Amino acid sequence: MSALPADDAAPDLLVLTTGGTIDKFYSTAGELEIREPTVGPILEQAATNLRIAVRGVLAVDSLDMTAEHRRTLTEAVAAAETARIVITHGTDTMTETAEHLLADPEAVAGKTVVLTGAMQPSCMRITDAPFNVGSAVTAAQLLDPGVYLAMSGRVFPAGTVAKDRARGVFVDR
Ligand code: GLU
Repeated sequence: MSALPADDAAPDLLVLTTGGTIDKFYSTAGELEIREPTVGPILEQAATNLRIAVRGVLAVDSLDMTAEHRRTLTEAVAAAETARIVITHGTDTMTETAEHLLADPEAVAGKTVVLTGAMQPSCMRITDAPFNVGSAVTAAQLLDPGVYLAMSGRVFPAGTVAKDRARGVFVDR
């Protein structure tokens, strides 16, 4: 995102993107494909003066996320220059990735990491993407260090949450 000033100061918040439905588009051939991260335009519409950096780490459907992908993401969290991090992620295995991060205390030490995503692509007229990104950005500024999910209008600590697939809602586990 271009909201950062030219100096080298760390951003207030870092968004790491990994793909998932939030970044899916219908191609002209009618295929759903993952394109550029949409979190930048969502944040621009929100007109915040927070200094937010957006970094693309992966671009995968979360059902295709491998151990190697999760290692790459964990390394990006560990290397982050700010303690406040939002991760956009496919909803199908978001809880799994959150638990994976939780299991690496060194990588997340002193950091507030909030995962979010969307059930409907950001490019759709009816989508939960802006709501969820807004929830995650706010949660990341308010919560103590730890790993969390911001979905369905709630914030859950990692390890306490499941996706209710039938209803498309994240619930207490
Ligand atoms: N299978 C997709 C994923 O987890 C769809 C779920 C979603 O992102 O909402 O990336």
